[in-house]
Amino acid sequence: MSHLLKLDSLEAGYGHLQVLRQISLHVDEGEIVALIGANGAGKSTTLNTICGVVPPTGGRVLFRGGEITNHPVQEIVGLGITQIPEGRKLFNEMTARENLEMGAFLRNDKEAIEKDIDSMFERFPILGERRSQRAGSLSGGEQQMLAITRGLMARPKLLLLDEPSLGLAPILVSEIFEIIQEINKQGTTILLVEQNALMALRIAHRGYVIATGRLMLEGTGKELLADENVRKTYLGEE
Ligand code: ATP
Repeated sequence: MSHLLKLDSLEAGYGHLQVLRQISLHVDEGEIVALIGANGAGKSTTLNTICGVVPPTGGRVLFRGGEITNHPVQEIVGLGITQIPEGRKLFNEMTARENLEMGAFLRNDKEAIEKDIDSMFERFPILGERRSQRAGSLSGGEQQMLAITRGLMARPKLLLLDEPSLGLAPILVSEIFEIIQEINKQGTTILLVEQNALMALRIAHRGYVIATGRLMLEGTGKELLADENVRKTYLGEE
């Protein structure tokens, strides 16, 4: 069986700056896979290259067995890959509900969209209560929740999550990670980029460690949590 997502010796960068070097990894259907690494290691660039925002300079991206390297972003979204970018990037002047509508912009099944919006508000009652509130006026945790649910409105097969815990208070971080696990249990495969390696590896089936654009280690979440190098470098242990 082919992998849901496969990166084959992927290379990418910005102008003369090469960031990704020979990145090969895969994500199977049903998994949560964590990509961890320090600031500037190339985690966001990896996600941006998968979804077509950053053009690769080498290698291939395969989704459900077909090559999507250099395909336009909209086409990649249409195939079932949605990215929740770092920093949420909500439409701040629009309401929570309007943001969810925007998440479904490639769909034209109006009735099903309405149903999906209702079910998001049922699953996340805090958002339901705030449906008519401007997104920019929501709390950090609520905004992150809205960004994730907006991404789900595209009904993706694969969700690319970039630093969902960034800037959140510890209690909200736990809540967001619970939500990620729940979304996964309901059938969405997840590639999760995080600086919070501990939380990410705790919920991940498998993980990869990236440093200066190269993959250094891979294993199950448990294996990586137990790895001495990971503990010292990414979990802050002596
Ligand atoms: P962080 O957690 O800090 O976002 P990261 O692992 O996601 O780190 P990237 O954002 O992928 O790292 O950045 C990798 C390198 O590419 C860094 O040196 C960064 O400065 C550079 N970079 C990222 N985006 C751009 C851009 N748009 N133009 C030029 N250089 C960039």
